[in-house]
Amino acid sequence: MRRYSAFAIAREAFRFHTGWERAWAAPEPKSDYDVVIVGAGGHGLATAYYLGKNFGITNVAIIEKGWLGGGNTGRNTTIIRSNYLQDPSAAIYEKARSLYETMSQDLNYNVMFSPRGVMMLAQTEHEIRGYQRTAHANALQGVSTEFISPARVKELCPIIELSGPRYPVLGALWQPRGGTARHDAVAWGYARACSDMGMHILQQTEVTAIHQSGGQVTGVTTSKGEINCKKLAIVVAGNSGHLADMAGFRLPMESAALQALVSEPIKPCMDVVVMANTVHGYMSQSDKGELVIGGGADGFNNYTQRGSFHHVEETVRALIETFPIISRLKMLRQWGGIVDMTGDRSPIISKTPLGNCFIDGGWGTGGFKSIPGSGWAMAELVAKGEPGALAAPFGLDRFKDGRFIDESVAAGVAH
Ligand SMILES: Cc1cc2nc3c(=O)[nH]c(=O)nc-3n(C[C@H](O)[C@H](O)[C@H](O)COP(=O)(O)OP(=O)(O)OC[C@H]3O[C@@H](n4cnc5c(N)ncnc54)[C@H](O)[C@@H]3O)c2cc1C
Repeated sequence: MRRYSAFAIAREAFRFHTGWERAWAAPEPKSDYDVVIVGAGGHGLATAYYLGKNFGITNVAIIEKGWLGGGNTGRNTTIIRSNYLQDPSAAIYEKARSLYETMSQDLNYNVMFSPRGVMMLAQTEHEIRGYQRTAHANALQGVSTEFISPARVKELCPIIELSGPRYPVLGALWQPRGGTARHDAVAWGYARACSDMGMHILQQTEVTAIHQSGGQVTGVTTSKGEINCKKLAIVVAGNSGHLADMAGFRLPMESAALQALVSEPIKPCMDVVVMANTVHGYMSQSDKGELVIGGGADGFNNYTQRGSFHHVEETVRALIETFPIISRLKMLRQWGGIVDMTGDRSPIISKTPLGNCFIDGGWGTGGFKSIPGSGWAMAELVAKGEPGALAAPFGLDRFKDGRFIDESVAAGVAH
């Protein structure tokens, strides 16, 4: 793989950019792989990358029915934080956040990680108590957060109106090393690195059946033919239930659309990420100047990958009290993705009833931030057949044993 560098950019400028290699190959499928990963979103690609990097397993196919990164990975609002309440969550989200810090160097691909700081506004007395509790928990977990005053909120984000008529800003949970990254670049960077290790990324290839014999997966049927594998990893976010159905087991998970929108681009006006969970909206400003705005998941299960007008109205109405300036902005575009939600709002990284089949899903509305940590933990599970310390608490058996990891508050948005 030719390395990207300032020197390479200068050289290509002189050659009218004719010398760039394709970032990843478009191979024909082989008949057999050691590991087949279904889903080339961030989590599937990160799983493949750490399988190669940490365990030397490179005879891997990542099978994607659309284009890589075209699912939730390319549709999310890119908030990265690790200020969760429970210890297992803080561990995996902080692992992910720390991997984001060095991801551009690791992948030699600029993922535009921007640790600009994330604040979650406290707009009720209940939220103050909740976020103070999280700040104490984070201190014990080694995650750097603090509960800040309204004056500090205003200092960090001058466009906020503190004294809204319904929900004044009473403080915030502040994570200074949280932030954003470029979502497509995360998928593209991992894809380039995987392809360079000789892995096959098979786009426009849908898995339509999973074959098994004696409690083990033997292969999959795809829209481009049969593929055999020694191990199968299902990493398909909102489609997890469908794939589990193909494999013959059920998941404690439901799917719904989560929508977002961006405004027309404006001059820089906010350089932090703000989440307002009581009124239900969150906002940051992209490098292009658009305000990136998200809200809650649809209140009913569905598989639509598009936006709807009532959602725009609800989300903008919620945010306008705290950010009056957005009342005069035009909306540029809106969209939706299918998120997969578990009852305790925590993910599943788990063995399944089939011995050599593993699943990573249930990241719901918050799985962009976890991509590197999830890939790291899932690769260990697939390689060793047993979960490591990061993944162990997130097994499917927790729903049978009642060991829930309740993150319904820290997950951030209503769902
Ligand atoms: C509007 C929106 C805003 C969000 N905001 C945030 C945020 O700010 N911060 C955050 O941390 N998270 C956020 N999320 C959540 C985050 O996007 C997801 O949790 C994360 O991207 C999931 O990644 P993934 O790789 O598991 O799934 P995906 O990126 O969806 O990848 C799964 C892939 O599997 C493929 N697939 C499915 N079925 C098959 C099949 N049968 N055969 C082959 N391929 C198949 C799909 O085409 C898809 O590309 C948001 C999500 C949405 C929709």
